[in-house]
Amino acid sequence: MQIMKYLYSFVGVLLIFTALFIPAYSFFKHQYSEKEQFHFDAKLENASLQFHAVKSAYNLLAQSVFDNIINKEHIVSLIKRANAADDTEKVHLRNELYTELLPLYENLKRQNVRQFHFHLKNSVSFLRFHRPEKYGDSLETIRYSIDKVNRTKREAFGFEEGRIFNGFRHVFPLFYEEKFAGTVEMSYSFNAIKMEEAKRYPAYHSFMLNKHIVFDKVWEEERDNYISSVLSPEYLHDKATINQKTENGFSLALIEHINEAIATESAERVKSQESFILDTELMGEHYIVIFIPINNVEKKQVAYYISYEKDPTLKIMKKTCRLEIIISAIASLILAVLLVLYVLSQKRTHKALELLATTDPLTNLANRNKLNILLEKAMQFSIRYKLPLSVIFFDIDDFKKINDSQGHDAGDTVLITVSKLISEQLRSSDIFARWGGEEFIILLPETPHKDAKMLAERYRKLIQQYKFLPDITVTCSFGVTQLRDDDDENSLLKRVDNALYSAKNHGKNIVVDVS
Ligand code: GH3
Ligand code: MG
Ligand code: MG
Repeated sequence: MQIMKYLYSFVGVLLIFTALFIPAYSFFKHQYSEKEQFHFDAKLENASLQFHAVKSAYNLLAQSVFDNIINKEHIVSLIKRANAADDTEKVHLRNELYTELLPLYENLKRQNVRQFHFHLKNSVSFLRFHRPEKYGDSLETIRYSIDKVNRTKREAFGFEEGRIFNGFRHVFPLFYEEKFAGTVEMSYSFNAIKMEEAKRYPAYHSFMLNKHIVFDKVWEEERDNYISSVLSPEYLHDKATINQKTENGFSLALIEHINEAIATESAERVKSQESFILDTELMGEHYIVIFIPINNVEKKQVAYYISYEKDPTLKIMKKTCRLEIIISAIASLILAVLLVLYVLSQKRTHKALELLATTDPLTNLANRNKLNILLEKAMQFSIRYKLPLSVIFFDIDDFKKINDSQGHDAGDTVLITVSKLISEQLRSSDIFARWGGEEFIILLPETPHKDAKMLAERYRKLIQQYKFLPDITVTCSFGVTQLRDDDDENSLLKRVDNALYSAKNHGKNIVVDVS
């Protein structure tokens, strides 16, 4: 019984805890996701702005180099002549251009310019400073940026993959005496961006390129420039952009660890071709990895710019969220325990009050209130199942005298003793109550009045023979009756009271039965 009570209390605590904690947990989780989203949006915007600012700075540099050094009459006229020249003359002109601009190219290389490339007006490669031995191939349909400048006669900027390298390209049209003569391209590798970013922003920057683009465009012998990416099977890294040295506190080993941690998710997310952020926790530190899509000159997404950074804010946010959840769990548990304890104490109070209202404090028998309720139930049961119900009403004879001669306490002892003596005789289905003063009532379900009379006789003798105190004899008078079909509570009690009255009138210490 006690175990069941503990079990119910435990289940109660568990249910209340769940009801309190689940909404609190969802609330704090929701709050956290909103904060994280806000934080990530700000990070993404910041990284995107940085990236575009660096690109713009290189645009300005390219424009300036073009305006001040390349777009000069002797160079443009050389290209103009090259268009019409035969192969021997082309070699001559190519050498002249190479010698003239090699110091510029050496300088540009230090600024991370990777490709410096002149093309004739029919998109045929004239001179690659980065591969001077390779020329004469047509770039038509391969290099959209060159096609675009040929078509529009205006400069074009943007990312583009090529036969050898990819890059952020700047292609300018060359005009001799207002006639289109060809194009020149200056391209920055991703390293240029990476270097500038690293100066401004405490992060590690990386870059990956869609492998289909590489397979489509890059010469087979140049594919060694690329290695596959852990972040997605669809992407490759340009080997030249992988820094073997620690950059802004990020070693290559750390980057590899982070990549392994986010690989599954990144492989899925890059399919969207949109920007996103992933985060991971390594050795107590939180890192975020920002992915920004790079579109090529044709406005197709072909690569991702990736920025790795330590994120102490995220660390604090996660810690706070964890703490909030732990505190709400503890608070829910305390509240659940208190609530169960309160309910238990309420129940106990209710039980005590009920006992007080229904029990006689001297004899611990049911009092008149309780008897009335039990009588109603017993009568209903008897009528419904057509079973006899008998009532015995008895009163201690000359009790006043006992009180007067032996004292009130002795009178109390007599009352207690009588109640115990009779209780011991009863069946569990019998109902025994103190009607008031020295009057008692017994309900005997399934008992006809003849049996009840016999029982009353037995009780009478028992009390008469019992030695209460050395010189006190206690006797009782009994009235007995049985429930009739037309009875209500009042008529039944009235009849049994009359029987008792008759017993008193006939000399007391007798049983009178009214059927
Ligand atoms: P009868 O034989 O006609 O019943 O006479 P009686 O003296 O028993 O009846 P009466 O009604 O004259 O007196 C009952 C007495 O019972 C009066 C009252 O003081 C006493 N009494 C009632 N309740 C208690 C109680 O709880 N304790 C004690 N000691 N006496 C009580
Ligand atoms: Mg009496
Ligand atoms: Mg009386």
